[in-house]
This record gives sequence, structure tokens and C-alpha cells, in this order.
Amino acid sequence: MQGKDYVLLTANAGVLICCNGKKIMADALHSEKTNRFSRVPDNVLRQAVNGEGDFAETDIALVTHDHPDHYNRNWTMRLLERNTAIQLVTPVRDFAERKNVYILSRPKETFRLAGIDITCKRLLHDGTEYASIANYGYMLDTGGTRILLLGDGAMDAKGIAAFAEGFEPDLALLNFPFLTLKRGRDIMDRVIGAKQTIVFHFPEPGDDINGYIQSAQRVLLKEYENDPRIRLLFQSMQKVPIETEF
Ligand SMILES: [Zn+2]
Repeated sequence: MQGKDYVLLTANAGVLICCNGKKIMADALHSEKTNRFSRVPDNVLRQAVNGEGDFAETDIALVTHDHPDHYNRNWTMRLLERNTAIQLVTPVRDFAERKNVYILSRPKETFRLAGIDITCKRLLHDGTEYASIANYGYMLDTGGTRILLLGDGAMDAKGIAAFAEGFEPDLALLNFPFLTLKRGRDIMDRVIGAKQTIVFHFPEPGDDINGYIQSAQRVLLKEYENDPRIRLLFQSMQKVPIETEF
């Protein structure tokens, strides 16, 4: 549905996806500033766990992997306590005893939760030092809109092709090196080929000491002439509409 569907950034690669009347948080709750990336501001964390504003009646919370710039145990516990209807899907075993928590353990799983078709697959985390981290990519179908997330998945063209084969995403949410690096662009354009792409996992502008946002903006202009099908998401509470018709 055009117009009222959107993606809202909490920080880094944390988002709330509102689509076809469904609300999905992904890596939305993290509270540690790492050396390169920003944390979610406290007021945004409070809104998210209390279900205020945009975060009201969130159906599902997804976690791609257990890194401090993607996941925080305490805020996730508060979310589960305050939104008892929410379903948590995660490879992190913190709340395994709760019935609304679905722990991922197999290499690939497919299921339907809260009216959303979910396929997830373990994808190699970017950087050889993180190879042992269980990082899951997600393909979501929220009643006709297909959304792809890779977590911190490596730029592995074969692995991503095997995961996303036949999915034809309407929307892909990708870490910024998929835009800023040539081999990333090859995968974004030729392997994933989403109708719309949101590029994220930036630090907030005030924390961006390496100038990642500016370099992404430069590449977007130079390589894609600011094609509106590719949007950057880098400021907490920034919203991008989901549009599948261009
Ligand atoms: Zn990570």
C-alpha cells in the first residue's frame, strides 16, 4: 500500500518497518555506543519499548545477531514485559523460556508469525573475525510486499543469491558498503535487484568521524544520479516511505 507505509530508523541498522498494517522492529533496540557507530537515544528506546507513537502495537521484533550495535538484552527484556503480544525472533538465547520468543538455531527456517511470512537464513557475518557470530538474514512478506534484510551479512554474492533466489524484493535494507563499494553495488544491482533500497548502518551525523554518510551521498549522486529508488537512512527517527511504484 503506497503512501502510509514507511521505514523509521532508531539508529545504526535499527528500524521500525510499517507495511500493509504490520509493524516489525529489526535490530531496533541497542544502547551501547561502539567506537564507530551510534546508540539509539534513550527517548527513542523508551518510545519503542512502551509502544508509543509509531511503535504502537508492533507485531514482531527481529534480531539479526548479538552485537552491541544491534541488540541489547535489557531493553529487549523491557519490550517483552510491556508488549506481551509481541513476537520476538532471534538467534540470541536470552529469553528462550518465553512462549512468544522464537529462537533461531537451524541454518534456514521458514514460518509465519502475526500474518507475516518469514524466511531466515544464517549468513556469514562481514569480517573474518566475526565468522563465528550467528547472523541471520530475513525475507519478509507482509501481505504482498517483500522485504529483505541481511543483518551484517558479508558481501558474498553466492550466499546472498542462494538466500534471495526467486524472492524479488520490493524493498531491501542494506548496510552502506553495498552502496559505497563497487563489489557491494554489483550485488545490490545484479544479485538483489530490489525495486527500492534503503541504505543504513551509518553513525549519526555527529558521530560520523569517518565521513561514511558523505561518501554514500557522493556515490549515490555519481553512480546513480540520486535515483529515488535508493534512499539513505542515517538519523534517528528519520522516515523513508516504502514505495514500490516508480
Ligand atoms: Zn555485527
